[in-house]
Amino acid sequence: MKCTSSTGAVLSNAHARFTAVWALGFQLIALAQPDPSWKIHDTTRPRPPVVEPGTPSTPEQPGKPPSDAIVLFDGKDLSAWCSLDGSVPKWVVREGSLECVKDSGYVRTLQNFGDCQLHVEWAAPVPAKGQGQGRGNSGVFLMGLYEVQVLDSYGSATYADGHAGAIYAQHPPLANASLPPGQWQTYDIIFTRPRFSETEEMLSPARVTVLHNGVLVQNHAELSGPTGWMKRAPYRAHADKLPLSLQDHGNPVRYRNIWIRELSGAGQREFTYSTNILDRYVGKYRSGDDLSVTIARAESQLKARFQSPGRDNAFFLFAESPTVFFMKSVEARLVFQTNAAGVTDGMTLHIGGERREAKRLPKRANDFAN
Ligand code: MG
Repeated sequence: MKCTSSTGAVLSNAHARFTAVWALGFQLIALAQPDPSWKIHDTTRPRPPVVEPGTPSTPEQPGKPPSDAIVLFDGKDLSAWCSLDGSVPKWVVREGSLECVKDSGYVRTLQNFGDCQLHVEWAAPVPAKGQGQGRGNSGVFLMGLYEVQVLDSYGSATYADGHAGAIYAQHPPLANASLPPGQWQTYDIIFTRPRFSETEEMLSPARVTVLHNGVLVQNHAELSGPTGWMKRAPYRAHADKLPLSLQDHGNPVRYRNIWIRELSGAGQREFTYSTNILDRYVGKYRSGDDLSVTIARAESQLKARFQSPGRDNAFFLFAESPTVFFMKSVEARLVFQTNAAGVTDGMTLHIGGERREAKRLPKRANDFAN
């Protein structure tokens, strides 16, 4: 918000901060205390959803995920994964495991996640090679920013906050529960994302709990910001959901049986696609003679600007699929259409239960020819 005086700006910011902190405080109280809107033993209170539990893994066989889990890797294919830029991942699937390929880059999920319960199994390479941070190094990056270290820490010394199960460079694990290289190890991670105000201040930090092979190694640990080598960077405001990534640290660490349960915002799945896909939709669209929609791209996200007489509003779009996008503050969906030549030529707008068609306007004469 722009203010005409610095005093006004200070007051406005202070007010926004107070409002945001108050709202978050209320949320946290609501989380910490029994919900006062329900009576004790209230029979009208919704029962918890039924989830069929999974089964534990054995060294030979991965276990079964809980019935409501999103399976990210089941030993067969990489359909849930891509490279950081959204292109086809270069890690390989070998004998039911996902193996890091040196210098191929991190892999990330196509789907975005925030608060979650995550199960990951990994095995360090055999024979073990290298020392310390060079021995079986990879990492689970929650939201692509916060690393739970993967490392061959079995009988191998390194700095404490770089061990397997460390929140890298911030919190050493509470125990070294490592198994020998080659053996499958489990991480069960409970992650609470950081919260940010509308003015992009950090309201509550990220918190992580990790069980390594069933042993508690991080207990609701509070993160000081994104993790990184030789640094503790401060928080920078980011989206509520972001892709999860796995680190290429040059070692052929293997993964199997990766599944995740969203702990908030589970009703609406959202994905981050490559800019190649997003750029197909960039352009101007017209619906009737009273509405124009301009689609632009801001990094890995599309933005839609709606203009009609007396109105001009812009919204970020979130991908539900490669062709369907939605908004978070308005009940609206944009479904893009592609013609026989593979060019986007229109969209259907679903806004507040109403449906409108919009045609794409050619920018140049040859716009539809490429
Ligand atoms: Mg690492």
